[in-house]
Amino acid sequence: MENVPQKNLDNVNSVNCGFCASAVECKDCYLCIGSYKSERCLYGDTVTMSKNCVDNYFIVGSELVYKSIDCSKCFMVSFASFCTDCMYSSFIYDCKNCSYCFGCAGLRNKKYCIFNEQYTKEEYEKKIREFYPTNGILLKKTLEIFGELLLKIPRKYALITHSVNCTGDVIENSKDCKSCFWITGGAENCKLAVCGGFGLKDSRDVYSGGGQSEMLYEVVTSGLGCKNISFSGRIQQSMDIKYSIDCYGSSNLFGCVGLRSKSYCILNKQYTKEEYEAFVPKIIEHMSQNPYVDKVGREYRYGEFFPMELSHFPYNGSTAQEHFPKTKEEAEKAGYVWRQEIEKDYIPSKKSEDVLIDISDIPDSITEEIIECAHKGECNDICVKAFRITPDELQFHRKMNIVLPVLCPNCRHMEFIRQRNPLKLWHRQCMCNKPGHSHKSRCPNEFETSYSPKRKEVVYCESCYNAEVV
Ligand SMILES: [Zn+2]
Ligand SMILES: [Zn+2]
Ligand SMILES: [Zn+2]
Repeated sequence: MENVPQKNLDNVNSVNCGFCASAVECKDCYLCIGSYKSERCLYGDTVTMSKNCVDNYFIVGSELVYKSIDCSKCFMVSFASFCTDCMYSSFIYDCKNCSYCFGCAGLRNKKYCIFNEQYTKEEYEKKIREFYPTNGILLKKTLEIFGELLLKIPRKYALITHSVNCTGDVIENSKDCKSCFWITGGAENCKLAVCGGFGLKDSRDVYSGGGQSEMLYEVVTSGLGCKNISFSGRIQQSMDIKYSIDCYGSSNLFGCVGLRSKSYCILNKQYTKEEYEAFVPKIIEHMSQNPYVDKVGREYRYGEFFPMELSHFPYNGSTAQEHFPKTKEEAEKAGYVWRQEIEKDYIPSKKSEDVLIDISDIPDSITEEIIECAHKGECNDICVKAFRITPDELQFHRKMNIVLPVLCPNCRHMEFIRQRNPLKLWHRQCMCNKPGHSHKSRCPNEFETSYSPKRKEVVYCESCYNAEVV
């Protein structure tokens, strides 16, 4: 791993995306991670087939979308979560096929609603001016009212759609998947697969894998027709691979890095088929008898993923910190590498509260200012303490008529992470006791949900949810 050259960024066929990572077939994007076929998108994580979107997390097929999470086919939408086919709407949660809605949750096929109440077109246009977040005061007020509404509207125990026999959260078009999360494009017979899909089959312990692949085990960021891959990362179009990294179009590799179109290699050295088949079982036996022992005494035998201490990335510079946050002390005690904070010497020319004025009053010169992040480096979010507004971003905010952000991009990203439910399931009972449903007192239905019992949201089983919302 130390000797084989690695690509600086994992971008593929992308144009003018020099500050993006894992951008595939993208154009003119800035500070996006894991985007696919997107154009002119700024600050996003997993933005797919979208255009002119800013500050989003997991959006698909959308245009002019701002600060939204898990949305698809939306146009001119902001502050939305789990919405599909919505237009000209803001602060919407779990809405489908709605337009001109503001501060609404759990609506279907609606128009001109504000905080879940129906208005006429004229009333809507007049009333929305009291709330639309053109400045910081309006944004704060709307977030408060909307936050209260979100605690009253029932939620489905899990966002599982068009799927059979699945547990987890945010799963679509899948079958027999257990404890899986954020599976798009369908998966079958998987367990503990997170962030992937698109035809993933018969796999377990996979993070970011899929694309017509099968039999992946303890694998990260791999796919496109892979088969029988274990303990590996960044493998594409390959089969029968173990303990390898960044290999494409290959088969029968053991402990290889950065190979293309190779077969029967061990530690990047070419062998014959016969030699390979004779050596690999011996290596496996040796790995089982003489485990790798890390600094804190953990043993890694054959069948374990690479030791964390061999990672090129520090714990807090990886997505591990996003899903399982640790403090510096906790990480170091566990023997993980921690990224030391690099002292930034920015001298902010604007305070964060200075940009909360009405977007119509923001001068063009704002793009030359260094704005202090409202967290001032005091959070645990890899805060970079200051940020700029790019000209494209200013233009976008003016077009959407929405106040500028007050947090640096890293802090904005971590805000999204906290909006999502954790990668955990709790066994709970439906909270519904509505009269008129098939149950007499409290609904007896039980389920696995990513809402912990300590949370305030109203969590329903599928039939009670359908009776109330759909
Ligand atoms: Zn910050
Ligand atoms: Zn129920
Ligand atoms: Zn009910």
